Amino acid sequence: MSKNLTKRSEDYSKWYNELVVKADLAENSGVRGCMVIKPYGYAIWEKMQAELDRMFKETGHQNAYFPLFIPKSYFSKEASHVDGFAKECAVVTHYRLKTTEDGKTIEVDPEAKLEEELIVRPTSETIIWDTYRGWIQSYRDLPILVNQWANVVRWEMRTRLFLRTAEFLWQEGHTAHATEREAIAEAEQMMEVYADFAEHFMAIPVIKGVKTANERFAGAVETYCIEALMQDGKALQAGTSHFLGQNFARAFDVKFANNEGKQEYVWATSWGVSTRLMGALVMTHSDDNGLVLPPNLAPIQVVIVPIYKGDEQLDAISVQAKELMAMLRKLGITVKYDDRTTHKPGWKFNEYELKGVPVRIAIGPNDLANGTFEVARRDTLTKQTVSHAEVVRYVEGLLKDIQANLFDKALAYRDEHITPVNTFDEFKEVLENKGGFVAAHWDGTTETEEKIKELTKATIRCIALDSMEEDGRCVLTGAPSARRVLFAKAY
Ligand code: AMP
Repeated sequence: MSKNLTKRSEDYSKWYNELVVKADLAENSGVRGCMVIKPYGYAIWEKMQAELDRMFKETGHQNAYFPLFIPKSYFSKEASHVDGFAKECAVVTHYRLKTTEDGKTIEVDPEAKLEEELIVRPTSETIIWDTYRGWIQSYRDLPILVNQWANVVRWEMRTRLFLRTAEFLWQEGHTAHATEREAIAEAEQMMEVYADFAEHFMAIPVIKGVKTANERFAGAVETYCIEALMQDGKALQAGTSHFLGQNFARAFDVKFANNEGKQEYVWATSWGVSTRLMGALVMTHSDDNGLVLPPNLAPIQVVIVPIYKGDEQLDAISVQAKELMAMLRKLGITVKYDDRTTHKPGWKFNEYELKGVPVRIAIGPNDLANGTFEVARRDTLTKQTVSHAEVVRYVEGLLKDIQANLFDKALAYRDEHITPVNTFDEFKEVLENKGGFVAAHWDGTTETEEKIKELTKATIRCIALDSMEEDGRCVLTGAPSARRVLFAKAY
């Protein structure tokens, strides 16, 4: 049965868009740049949220909630922050509609104009630091370790399901500290938490690094990031953690009395990951047959499909299926038994392959007779006949195996696609023909960075934290450089 999915080798982007829709993750809506996340896609997001939320709480954070709207005046308080976000803000100017005179339509009521416009939050530093002023008086009030799960709006011009949308869901951590050292340690810790999550749950290897001044978050002193590589050789910024220095404390006048009674500005961090991670998940593991989900995030880890003729056979198979389901559930494995009589087994196989369910167990008349199950794994599309006595242990091991295999495969691909180059010709050649990260010397200036972007579309994804000192010359200008940085074309 064909799924009519474009092949990755034909058109990767088309494959991605079709897959997101056909696998029931999300679809475009009537609102430009905004998507509808469908129940199957949302179930994966909920699993991501649950794990991240657990990790945030384990590292001492608590959740809170701040307003969706931010008064325009708050935005202008931190100069580089407003510069960075001004071009993509949705602004509320009125609070009422009225019926037109001919009674046929409605229009904005010009009399209901807001005195001060409100910005729909693109990120919440401003409203949160305005609030923190009231929460912080002395060093005893610090640190504040708060996270918010929310939606934000950035009026993106070129949007794509999950990867870049005008409205997206995310979490944003906002912490306040008494010392610079503690704030930097927090920003680094959260980058580590994101890397840990990406690798152990999403099975995505990431490079930890810092952004160049040019790519830094507007208002940050340092932006830490995790960068991932998609199967088409393009990079994706998967998460960011910012050390904000005292910039927002100064802008919002947030001071504390230190233990000697002296007034000091508070140190800040913010950090976030978004529904973009869904796009990263799809683009890292999936294939021409559909989604491939890592077991640790799959809403359904095991599906059982009966193959039968007539009610009697179905009843007999159902007894076995339900027994198996109960045993697997005892181990915390999420199992679905699809005994719908409205769809043929072949249709179901196809559907669960498209949806990336890691393990499929089929039970047919032969299995009934032989006391076996047919166990198929989604990642390698291979099958194995397993006896009743062994099946539970086998499936448990298989889920772990699939999780590890997906990570190893992605890691091998990523490592093969970090290419050191020493000349600009090589740089262009690798970008054009191979893709992936290009490790090159760069003279450290924004000017060169922008020139390279203009000539090749590649940006500096990060300066990897584990990059070694090495004397070299900038690929473009020949000026001296002390280490290689990672360039790539990116989403
Ligand atoms: P930032 O606040 O710009 O550091 O972004 C925080 C997180 O949101 C990062 O992981 C970004 O990759 C992600 N992100 C930024 N813009 C978008 C967007 N338009 N759609 C989805 N995710 C985004």
